[in-house]
Amino acid sequence: MAKIYLESANELPIYDECDILVVGGGSAGHSAALAAARAGCEKVILMERFGYFGGDVTGGYVLMIPALNWRSYNIVRGIQEEWFARLDKNAPDSYICPEREEVGENDPFKLQRWSLIHGCVSPEQGNPHLIRAPYYEPNHLKLEMDAMIQEQPNIKTLLHCWGTKPIMDGNTIKGVIFESKEGRKAVLAKVVIDATGDGDIYRQSGCPWVAGSLRTEDVRENRTSMTALVWRMGGVDYEAYSRWFHSNPAEAAAFRENLNKIAGYRTNFYPAGSNEVVWWNNWLTNRDCSNLDDIRHTEFTVRNSIRRLLEFCRKNMPYGRNAYLYDIAPQLGSRCSHRLIGEHVYTKLDIATGAKFDDVIAWHSTINMINGGAPIEIPYRSILPQKVENLLCPGRHLSADAETVAGISLIPQCIGTGQAAGVAAAVCVQDGTTTHNVDIKRVQKILCTEQDVPLPRQENTDPELVRELEDYKYGTQTEAAKKIRAAAGLDW
Ligand SMILES: Cc1cc2nc3c(=O)[nH]c(=O)nc-3n(C[C@H](O)[C@H](O)[C@H](O)COP(=O)(O)OP(=O)(O)OC[C@H]3O[C@@H](n4cnc5c(N)ncnc54)[C@H](O)[C@@H]3O)c2cc1C
Repeated sequence: MAKIYLESANELPIYDECDILVVGGGSAGHSAALAAARAGCEKVILMERFGYFGGDVTGGYVLMIPALNWRSYNIVRGIQEEWFARLDKNAPDSYICPEREEVGENDPFKLQRWSLIHGCVSPEQGNPHLIRAPYYEPNHLKLEMDAMIQEQPNIKTLLHCWGTKPIMDGNTIKGVIFESKEGRKAVLAKVVIDATGDGDIYRQSGCPWVAGSLRTEDVRENRTSMTALVWRMGGVDYEAYSRWFHSNPAEAAAFRENLNKIAGYRTNFYPAGSNEVVWWNNWLTNRDCSNLDDIRHTEFTVRNSIRRLLEFCRKNMPYGRNAYLYDIAPQLGSRCSHRLIGEHVYTKLDIATGAKFDDVIAWHSTINMINGGAPIEIPYRSILPQKVENLLCPGRHLSADAETVAGISLIPQCIGTGQAAGVAAAVCVQDGTTTHNVDIKRVQKILCTEQDVPLPRQENTDPELVRELEDYKYGTQTEAAKKIRAAAGLDW
């Protein structure tokens, strides 16, 4: 049995009290705080363990956001779209992707140009078209995320504060204990949003959750049980390399395989918003981003391999002769550690059957091609824990099965579920209700009419989009969808 140390009870200062406390300022938490403040909540506190917002998207250098449109419809909007509207104004050269007006186009010249940039042409069978999948500069996004929070006077920010423990009264959460350079203190709140990505708060609240993701060596089967440390390489001509790559498939495959061998783990590079720089993504298999041994292994293994990879690229990469180390992400890339077992557990059967939910809070395409990339509905109950009241859990640790979580924990879904969590929390506070009794119709209305989040079956739902989705049967006729239904004994 492991040795234990019995911590003695002690008194903690109450640092502050608020309506809504958001723990974690990644894409989910940042969106949750903004949405709550904009929905009229008087006092929101946003607590973040590092000194900036964004989590994976800024500090982890995850530089690509997939599928902001389905065919010609720019369906992923709200705070996600606001990022790019703001970058258009303040740093227009900080990202690349097809224009909003170009999505769904299939002009052969444009298809050829954008096929050089991974993810910008739809893999939908028989229907190649342009996809808005931005590759962005994380430091510009960091500045924009700062500005968005500072413009909101009803948000108080606590930086370099690590939320460590929920304060519970029976099954109701009442606040969170945190550690900082000022010592151990507490914040009390009417509603708490756990947006730590690893369930740091909900895991100690008494609600059901599960550790880990699907264990596999094959990244194509499941990417969430893999850790990463992303870095960037400068001095290359990515588009020229990409042209070579597409015209020489055998040599390209060998080149890529060599990268894996030299690294000693699976790795590859992608565009990075500027033609001279690429970002190295990596997949260290069967690792958990909340396990200390796996964290150390990932940090050292990737950093130890960087000079070997640089040398190999200088000697062998077409258009890579002048490659140099541009920078290394300041924080570990965290894909998935723990998952909530919420009031609804999202599964691939939901995708294969085109499931519709009365409590839908996000309506997005994902990279999961079970339904050919058609939008899926994410319900409020996927961020609502069982048993515990006044706690919401948006972002990558939401409630989904081990396989499906990979497709619904991407940046747009983290922002979408975060934004919805913020509005739902604000409605709870304003109505004096709890998270299990929230007026979900009011939440949906605020999202659709005040916060630019398209949802199905609302007054302002785009009828053209619905018609096209109905014609496409919500993607339920793909071979993959049929297979999943057959395996579940559904024969339609
Ligand atoms: C290498 C890699 C590549 C990926 N590629 C893509 C891609 O191409 N496209 C895509 O859309 N998605 C991709 N993803 C997934 C996506 O980036 C994440 O799922 C998403 O950004 C997670 O957002 P989040 O807000 O839920 O969590 P996080 O980004 O992890 O944010 C959590 C935040 O909470 C803070 N925090 C954590 N614990 C505490 C605590 N106890 N107290 C206070 N603060 C805390 C963290 O510092 C962080 O800021 C990738 C992920 C990785 C790691």
